Amino acid sequence: MAKVMIDIGHGGSDPGSSGNGLIEKDVNLKVGVMLYNYLSKYDVEVRTTRNTDITLSNDVRVELVNKFDPDLSVSVHHNAASTVEARGAEVIHAHYDEYDDKLANRILDNMEAIGMPKRRAFTKLNTRGDDWYYMIRRIWDTTTDAIIVEGGFVTNSIDAELLKSEDFLMEEAAAIGKAIVEYLGLQLITERWWDAAMQRMVTAGLIENEHNGHQAVTWGEFATVISRLLDKLQL
Ligand SMILES: [Zn+2]
Repeated sequence: MAKVMIDIGHGGSDPGSSGNGLIEKDVNLKVGVMLYNYLSKYDVEVRTTRNTDITLSNDVRVELVNKFDPDLSVSVHHNAASTVEARGAEVIHAHYDEYDDKLANRILDNMEAIGMPKRRAFTKLNTRGDDWYYMIRRIWDTTTDAIIVEGGFVTNSIDAELLKSEDFLMEEAAAIGKAIVEYLGLQLITERWWDAAMQRMVTAGLIENEHNGHQAVTWGEFATVISRLLDKLQL
């Protein structure tokens, strides 16, 4: 069974970034716990580095992850910048993964689909040519992938409005979770109320592919589906 560690950034005496009435450690905790709940529905052993507002040293954080020895460590953070214009989601991955940053881009594509712009997937090196961020440098090895998700800027008013909404945070957790599930090669559980019916129509050959259940159909599309159904019923 795959193992995933959700490292929930900051906490306790370390608030992380702040802006627009948001404190990063609190946003991280909400998204991290939601992500835990999301992944718990799958055949994955999930843990978090914290699930309350406690202070964790860098060493303790690293030790928690390395003792668990997960397939993937995902650190949940939210960004800040000196310019209020900076906005969007970023994912930092190990420099070893530069040729294969599929997970990072999958997360960013999912974030973009829920209205959080895709800013960049990147890697950052220190002067020794190793990864800059300790949650990657001290964790990544050939059996453990490590990424850091920065799910938007608390210092940007548009991002902050999104991050204040519990509904958005649920969507953010699902955006990250869905990418992880696919990255682990697991079958996505269909959750939207129309999914089963839509799949049935595809299987029956009434439609070519699945559509967004909130989208309206035209009379032309409706007539096509009915016509195919009549064919099948030989009417
Ligand atoms: Zn942070």
